[in-house]
Amino acid sequence: MKPGKDVVWPKRLLKIDVSGDVLKVVLVGPSDTSQEYIALSHCWGTSKDGQQTTSTVPPKTNTTDLENYKSAGISESSLTKTFRDALDITRKLGVEYIWIDSLCIVQDDEEDWRIESRKMGSIYGNAYLVIAATLAKDGDHGLYCERAQRRIEFQTSAGEQVKAAVFLKAHHDIWKKGEQFWDVQDLPLFDRAWAFQERLLARRVVHYTPTELVWECSCSIDCECGDLQNPNTSWAEFKPGKNLKTKYSDVLVDSNMARLKFWHDICAQYSARQLTFPSDRRPALSSVARRIDFPGMGGAYLAGIWRDSLPHGQFWWSEFTNPKLYPLGAKTHRRDKSHKIPTWSWLSIGGRVSTWGISQACLIVVEILNVHYIPAMDGDDYGPCGEGIITLRSPGAPIEVAESKLPDGPSNKEVQLVGNQNSYDFYADENPFEHPAQNLKDSQLLAFLFGYSPSHSQVFILKLVPGTSKRYERLGIANLCPHEWFAGQTARVIELV
Ligand SMILES: [Zn+2]
Repeated sequence: MKPGKDVVWPKRLLKIDVSGDVLKVVLVGPSDTSQEYIALSHCWGTSKDGQQTTSTVPPKTNTTDLENYKSAGISESSLTKTFRDALDITRKLGVEYIWIDSLCIVQDDEEDWRIESRKMGSIYGNAYLVIAATLAKDGDHGLYCERAQRRIEFQTSAGEQVKAAVFLKAHHDIWKKGEQFWDVQDLPLFDRAWAFQERLLARRVVHYTPTELVWECSCSIDCECGDLQNPNTSWAEFKPGKNLKTKYSDVLVDSNMARLKFWHDICAQYSARQLTFPSDRRPALSSVARRIDFPGMGGAYLAGIWRDSLPHGQFWWSEFTNPKLYPLGAKTHRRDKSHKIPTWSWLSIGGRVSTWGISQACLIVVEILNVHYIPAMDGDDYGPCGEGIITLRSPGAPIEVAESKLPDGPSNKEVQLVGNQNSYDFYADENPFEHPAQNLKDSQLLAFLFGYSPSHSQVFILKLVPGTSKRYERLGIANLCPHEWFAGQTARVIELV
């Protein structure tokens, strides 16, 4: 069952030694790492707005700890409950080694992090099993939980009075809500971007959920109550025993077109996940992209978009119109420019997005003239982004942003031609929209034509980068603009950054 010789091993593993009642965990180096091991997928303990919660920071290995952790080991008492439970499960499964990111990667060594984070695909993919702390919002929670039970008392036919505890049947409503309806309140791990990748890359995963254990591997999914295998109770989107993970495994041996289409699911699923560090938005998906890539699959991998899926891949929109998932006024979609992801990429937004994928939803007018994309690090085409400029040609019309006539409607802003009061829904990338009104008034805004449907025009809403003549950043999209906006407008060439 061990992986072949050509696998890339993690640089370090934790070896679990037990002598008597004493458990010792030692960090072991390269010579010992070609061993069967279990990997842990867990939440680091961060709240939705990215702030670290108190007392839940996972134990970490820093440069100064390294030698001590290799020789004396890490004391059990310094580990969180989630880590201790993971060690316990590993031992019970008869495995001696476990990989835990915060302890096996030196956290204050950027070079170590860069090298090891690029191996994530192999680290999770080669693990004998991934233990997913799906129910634990932080390290204090642990993996084991009390099963719902009811105390009963009854009399046997022999007249004996019996007291008993009945464990209620496991059920997976929580799992279903999490996977299908994005309701991840009880499954915090589903909310984390790194865990999304870890789950897809793993050969097999056991999820610890509040109500039952759920099993996932490349070809099937099952749970204690059996509903995930039941044709009468499984959901419509997938066949019994199938889900996003099995679909990912299937497309890896399927056609390039199937892979490209699947990327649409990835956008929707991955974009909804939270990150502790916004700069991880591209790295935390890089191993999934690297594995799905194939010669001729979709051209170069840009920032979350394949070259050959342009221009379709550029027409994405932020989803924050479901008030149950995204309460009015909540900060749900932020664009953090510090990590250099171009505004034309859905990865520039922290928040759930949707795309058309590669389907032909309208008559596309915009032309791609040039794509200039440079990764931040030489040779790491899937890692952090350095620079991305797409040169486009299409008609454009000067516009201004207006307040929505329906403040609770699907879009909170509208756009209108300069000097014309007829306004149309504008779907901003950010929620809340953080461009001050005065700043917008002082800026040159452009409705740049993407394509035509029979009754409307689909446009990008762009803002001129100050000090430039044709370089624009994206603010959002509008899909109900009238064709007349572009009648008589000649095509212009712009650079989208
Ligand atoms: Zn179940």
